[in-house]
Order: sequence, then C-alpha cells, then structure tokens
Amino acid sequence: MSQTRKNANETAEERQERLFKESVANHATRSEKTAWARKQANLQKFVKLKVNPIEEHIRDTQATLVPLYDEVNGMREEMVSSCIHPFDMLVVDGDYCICRFCNKKLAKPIVMDEE
Ligand SMILES: [Zn+2]
Repeated sequence: MSQTRKNANETAEERQERLFKESVANHATRSEKTAWARKQANLQKFVKLKVNPIEEHIRDTQATLVPLYDEVNGMREEMVSSCIHPFDMLVVDGDYCICRFCNKKLAKPIVMDEE
C-alpha cells in the first residue's frame, strides 16, 4: 500500500512536497497503515449503509413540509391583514402599543379609570 504518488513530470517544488508528505506518512508501519485503511473502509461503509439512508429519509420528509409551511404562511398573512391586535399579543412601548402578531405600532388611546 504505497502512498507514493510520483509524477513523471514533477517539478522541484512538487518533489519537495512529495518527500515531505512521505516522511510524515512513513512513520506508520505497513501493518498500521493496513489496519487504518480497513477502519477507513469500515467508516465509509457504515456512513453509506446506516447514515446516508436516514439523511435521505430526512430530506424527503423535509420536502413534504414545504407545501405545509407555504399554507401556514398564507394563513398567517391573512390573519395579519385582518389582525384584531389581541390583548395577549400587545406590548406597551412608551406612547405606543406594538402588536407582536402583526407588528403594527398603535397609538395608545386615552385610558379611562376602571371602576
Ligand atoms: Zn395585530
């Protein structure tokens, strides 16, 4: 399992780079390289057989959500255009009330004393 990738037309710079990489990679023994390559193959097989099908399933499931999100957005847009500014959606900000549902900034009406 030689990692040498000697190019017949390699430049001096490419040669230096190759020798540098070889000096690093050759610290491992042949059996260590073989064992590691087996682990790498096992990892790739595991990802291909176990992980990729689930990722594909998730992508398909997400695709089925897209038209539902579009419908939700359409319903929300209609509710924003007909917003009644419900009490629990209002936040007071100085002289204004801001509706957290439709984001309208509403002038604060004169408050009557409660009886
Ligand atoms: Zn509103």
